[in-house]
Amino acid sequence: MKEITSAEFEQEVLQGGKVVVDFYSSECAPCEALAPKFDAMAELYGEKIKFLKVFRQQNRELATELGVSSSPTLLFFDNGKKLPITMSGGIRKSEIQKQLDDMITAEEVLSIKSNQKQIVSEYDVAILGGGPAGLAAAIYLGQALIKTVLIDPALPGGYMGITHQVSNYPGFIEAQPGFMLAHYMGEQAKSSGIDLRVAVDITSVNLTKKEIVIDQLETIRAKKIIIATGTSPKSMNAKGEKELKGKGISYCATCDAKYYVDQEVIVIGSGNSAVEEALYITKFASKVKIVFRSEKLKANESALNILAKNDKIELIPFYEPRGFERKNGKMEVEFENLQTKQRTTLTADGVFVFIGLEANIADLGINLPAMNEWGSIITDEDMKTSIPDVYAIGDIISKKYRQITTAVADGTIAAMSISLEM
Ligand SMILES: Cc1cc2nc3c(=O)[nH]c(=O)nc-3n(C[C@H](O)[C@H](O)[C@H](O)COP(=O)(O)OP(=O)(O)OC[C@H]3O[C@@H](n4cnc5c(N)ncnc54)[C@H](O)[C@@H]3O)c2cc1C
Repeated sequence: MKEITSAEFEQEVLQGGKVVVDFYSSECAPCEALAPKFDAMAELYGEKIKFLKVFRQQNRELATELGVSSSPTLLFFDNGKKLPITMSGGIRKSEIQKQLDDMITAEEVLSIKSNQKQIVSEYDVAILGGGPAGLAAAIYLGQALIKTVLIDPALPGGYMGITHQVSNYPGFIEAQPGFMLAHYMGEQAKSSGIDLRVAVDITSVNLTKKEIVIDQLETIRAKKIIIATGTSPKSMNAKGEKELKGKGISYCATCDAKYYVDQEVIVIGSGNSAVEEALYITKFASKVKIVFRSEKLKANESALNILAKNDKIELIPFYEPRGFERKNGKMEVEFENLQTKQRTTLTADGVFVFIGLEANIADLGINLPAMNEWGSIITDEDMKTSIPDVYAIGDIISKKYRQITTAVADGTIAAMSISLEM
């Protein structure tokens, strides 16, 4: 692997051949996550494609000239010409491999694949998921000198990493940007001596055999597995929903209601959480419209009684969202009336969605631990699941309150319980 400067760029990159260049920075978690994957790719494809690195902080002008504005960024060149694809952030090995395969012939791809060596790694504990639950477990296990690996298809942090401001995590007087908390916890986990496999593809998981295959290449065998894969809000299958998540569409009133003082808010959902969260939001907002598909709300009597006395709340039954747009700082939501099929647009300062959460279990294989009726994993007080030596922590487990503090508590309990057994 060669490191070049701006002065060498013309000679090394633009004179021809197939080249991939990694613009990296120091103190950059995604750059560290990419480095071993880039090295592995260089070893595999090195005879056909040249792999180069450029230290962005010392070659700023070149980076700017090439439109590189974040680290790491991968640029691909063929015969002196920059290819239209650019990769940055938490880059997965499979994404790079696909692009490299496109740059060479099918025969060359076959020959490279046949040279790919499978790796087997042995650990005491493998943690699936690097949100606050997984990171807390990792910190405790690392400090207890238990050989641990934390695996995540994204970068460490989970929901915390994408939360705008976290004001209720103890230890910080000022609200912290979620990505900073994620950074602190990730660095603390690393310094405790655990191994990280982040921005990877989870090829397969076998909870019974305690085997996890990542990037179709590395088999991780562990004595114990901790599931900390969290949840995802159920999708509304509406236009703009994905793009505006965290930028006008929120899924957590405790976290975000305080940003809507004297403003108008739409709440989507009809169950207990929609009603209870809407009531909570009225402490801040001047108006809360609860929009739901059915004729009546499905919350319990006591919540409905409190709601009936709250004059900030308006109920809008029989509507389902079809699209979200952000215009001039406001959210515009297109709804369809399920009875008349007519569409109407409501405008508000923010939208909160409480239509339920789904446990992230899709990649966990076929032998899953026992779950409750909502698909959350059932654990005992040590966070053990129904599968021997498999633990579950954080939002994925059956519990009432889902916060960073409760996730961290679950991670602590699982790690301490494991430490006693190892
Ligand atoms: C928008 C929003 C704002 C919030 N704000 C706050 C707040 O201000 N304060 C607060 O206390 N709580 C807040 N919460 C709640 C809090 O973020 C969660 O309770 C907490 O993050 C749960 O932690 P976790 O580790 O269980 O799961 P997550 O944070 O969801 O992390 C799960 C991790 O698992 C990874 N993963 C998924 N599938 C797999 C797989 N198959 N294999 C390996 N890894 C996998 C994911 O990439 C992710 O990194 C907020 C939640 C949301 C949605």
